[in-house]
Amino acid sequence: MRKTRITGAFAGVAIAAIALTGCNSGSPTSPGAAGGGDEESTGALWEVASDVSLEGSPTFDAITERDKVIVGVKEDQPGLGFLDATTNERTGFDVDIARWIAASLGYDEDKIEYKAIASANREQAIVNGDVDYYVGTYSITDARKQQIDFAGPYFITGQGLLVAADSDIASEDDLNADTRVCSATGSTPIQNIKANYPEVPTEEFDLYSACVDALINGTVDAVTTDQAILIGYAAQYPDDIKVVGEPFSEERYGVGLAKGDDAFRTHINELLTDGGDVWQGIFDKNLGESGITVEQPAVDAY
Ligand code: GLU
Repeated sequence: MRKTRITGAFAGVAIAAIALTGCNSGSPTSPGAAGGGDEESTGALWEVASDVSLEGSPTFDAITERDKVIVGVKEDQPGLGFLDATTNERTGFDVDIARWIAASLGYDEDKIEYKAIASANREQAIVNGDVDYYVGTYSITDARKQQIDFAGPYFITGQGLLVAADSDIASEDDLNADTRVCSATGSTPIQNIKANYPEVPTEEFDLYSACVDALINGTVDAVTTDQAILIGYAAQYPDDIKVVGEPFSEERYGVGLAKGDDAFRTHINELLTDGGDVWQGIFDKNLGESGITVEQPAVDAY
């Protein structure tokens, strides 16, 4: 069985550290752990609010009008945002954060519509009003804040590398003109590689899962994105691929929402701030067995 140990903290960030302490494959050892999505454990984590009113929120008005919440998510990122094609079950830390927010607005699972939106299309989907909010490994950046707003952060991770199990690449220092690196179009990791490792050849797909397929097929040498995402893939294919190195960026995940809807943003920020126990329950359920340890960050109520 593969064992990985990566320790380290993001330089200058006291708030969060990721430490992988023994990332084993295999099934979860406790009920309601990674991959668990059973109604009972979900139901125990939060309650569906009633008689909610959110004065001055166009997003909440739209939700109320259609009597349904439309959430943007990822569905190919195990542990974070995943749709099981066989059971049709959605699981993951991000998905449960999205559900918790919907519940705080008075909407249970049967009143949530999920839309899978790739990294490159998120801002536009929010600007167009195609989704009420987006929860899917979405880093808060100034460039994105030109078009949309973010509640949070609700999670902090950092860019990492996923390579073949027998690869000699041990960190970003080993990237060069002969290492083909794959990432998702429109993501912060691909921007980082292009800006700071210009000699490294890149391959882009809409979805990270396509990069993982390319890695396993040997058409690329590394996949780069947030370590939290890569850890989920490594757990899926423990004999073939591995996460290497230390995080080499800081990615602060926010809930994407319409620019200027301050009432909605404040509502989500207060939910996150007041709901530390729920956050921890969602973390434990989805990522507790992953080897990731991270504390809930304080929200940035800008
Ligand atoms: N967190 C990074 C981003 O928002 C990478 C993950 C993703 O593409 O969703 O760009």
